[in-house]
Amino acid sequence: MVKIAMKTPLVEMDGDEMTRIIWKMIKDELLLPFIDLKTEYYDLGLEYRNETDDKVTTEASEAIKKYGVGVKCATITPNAARVKEYNLKEMWKSPNGTIRAILDGTVFRSPIIVDSIEPFVRTWKKPITIARHAYGDVYKNVEIKVEGKGTAELVFTSENGEVEKQVIHTFDGPGVLQGMHNTNKSIESFARACFNFALDRKEDLWFASKDTISKKYDHTFKDIFEEIFEEEYKVKFDEAGIEFFYTLIDDAVARVVKSEGGFIWACKNYDGDVMSDMVATAFGSLAMMTSVLVSPEGFYEYEAAHGTVQRHYYNHLKGKETSTNSMATLFAWTGALRKRGELDNIPELITFADKLDKASIQTIEEGVMTKDLASLSSIKDIKVVNTEDFIKEIRTRLEAAL
Ligand code: NAP
Ligand code: MG
Repeated sequence: MVKIAMKTPLVEMDGDEMTRIIWKMIKDELLLPFIDLKTEYYDLGLEYRNETDDKVTTEASEAIKKYGVGVKCATITPNAARVKEYNLKEMWKSPNGTIRAILDGTVFRSPIIVDSIEPFVRTWKKPITIARHAYGDVYKNVEIKVEGKGTAELVFTSENGEVEKQVIHTFDGPGVLQGMHNTNKSIESFARACFNFALDRKEDLWFASKDTISKKYDHTFKDIFEEIFEEEYKVKFDEAGIEFFYTLIDDAVARVVKSEGGFIWACKNYDGDVMSDMVATAFGSLAMMTSVLVSPEGFYEYEAAHGTVQRHYYNHLKGKETSTNSMATLFAWTGALRKRGELDNIPELITFADKLDKASIQTIEEGVMTKDLASLSSIKDIKVVNTEDFIKEIRTRLEAAL
């Protein structure tokens, strides 16, 4: 068989622990035999990040800006225990945080749906993608614990010294205070990333906030979304046959639960934090959740939503058999390859990514799955397989499809 040729390299970011093991298995079994894989490799494994004073993460992010598409393995975000375990020079920052700061993107998370694993919400038939604004609000706030009587004010001093002041509250006893912000620039990027993603997926976009209560703060989010939509996207949405829909956050929650799915739900930072965990759990498993970072300039970075599956890795190191689910990591690869195929006009690469997705879903739907899914599936005769055999089972079905 002739291998599929690629034109532009993918930015490949290797990672840590069990997902690093899976990464290699996916490449060896499911990609390299079929594709003349072109990647620019960056080792984001913690050891090499430490060796390069984390410069490798910045270089990888710059490479995504150069080539447009990256695929990332899960990585360790160091804490005190990791500093000791890996003898680190410093408690390096989260690679995802660094990449997000450089690309200025929005994170979209979608579940992988398979027949035999039913969402806890009976009406959900299609994936619901959460788009979380990843800047500001309560995540960049300042807080004061008020100890007693006094007056709290909100003060803004402009560049040329003009002062705008409002009384927040006159305290007659102890209480709490919080100040938060966002910027039009960040909200505009968020809105464009959501509109572009909806067009890419040909799915409706929902956005919700609490503009009836927050008449300036949340209302600004609403206004920015509506202005950008009218000016830049309305025609494109009409052509694609999709809709943009704004409602209040409490109304959105009620509608989401009663919906069939199949849309993108754009959330403010806090709402996205809370709702993405709710949606992921309701769809079944973190191991079946994919994630893509989309920048306003249209750069894409694909990854799994889960971490490095540390507990499984330690078992693996002890020589024990593991049954780690590789679906989300595999879908990160197929997402990136498909996008590369679209950008470089390589239909064979797009078809390959589609067939590989299908083969992996078919494997689970035929009852062959890793341990984490076995307890969720409604299939009677389940064959629980180990990490490696699951990938081999996918390969058998992929070869049949090719
Ligand atoms: P985790 O790796 O997501 O795993 C948490 C638990 O979820 C696992 O112990 C396992 O449960 C289950 N699980 C997750 N993915 C699975 C899979 N593919 N197959 C089967 N089971 C799976 O989270 P963590 O253990 O809290 O974090 C480990 C490391 O990952 C940390 O150092 C953290 O910094 C990093 N992390 C990285 C990213 C990222 O790069 N995007 C995201 C989150 C965390 P059982 O043990 O019960 O089988
Ligand atoms: Mg959270």
